[in-house]
Amino acid sequence: MQPDAALHLLVVPRAHIPDTGCLGPQDLDLVEAMDALGRELLRQRAPPGARTKLGYHVPPWRSVGHLHLHAMALPHTPAWAAAKYSLPGTWLSSRALMRRLRWSWPLLGGAGGGEDGEAV
Ligand SMILES: [Zn+2]
Repeated sequence: MQPDAALHLLVVPRAHIPDTGCLGPQDLDLVEAMDALGRELLRQRAPPGARTKLGYHVPPWRSVGHLHLHAMALPHTPAWAAAKYSLPGTWLSSRALMRRLRWSWPLLGGAGGGEDGEAV
């Protein structure tokens, strides 16, 4: 995979889940565990004080047919790659996905919510 950020990790579940469109409230534990692992890896590996971004591409804007969480330390490289990981309707931050699963909100459409700028 071509990295699109200073540090670009993927968290992939063993269970085959095609994408975020296949997730329901019963998957909240899995998604929370993926989020926790992504944040822990960033804590260990990202430069101190780096801004981070965690999230998912939403179908049909995903490149691989297996659920994966992008965990990145910014900045994006090249800078224009930021669009790939922030456009509403194509990108869902990890926190936004957990919120939607918790409250059973629709996973498709609506604002994605970039939620970058979180400090490690
Ligand atoms: Zn992806």
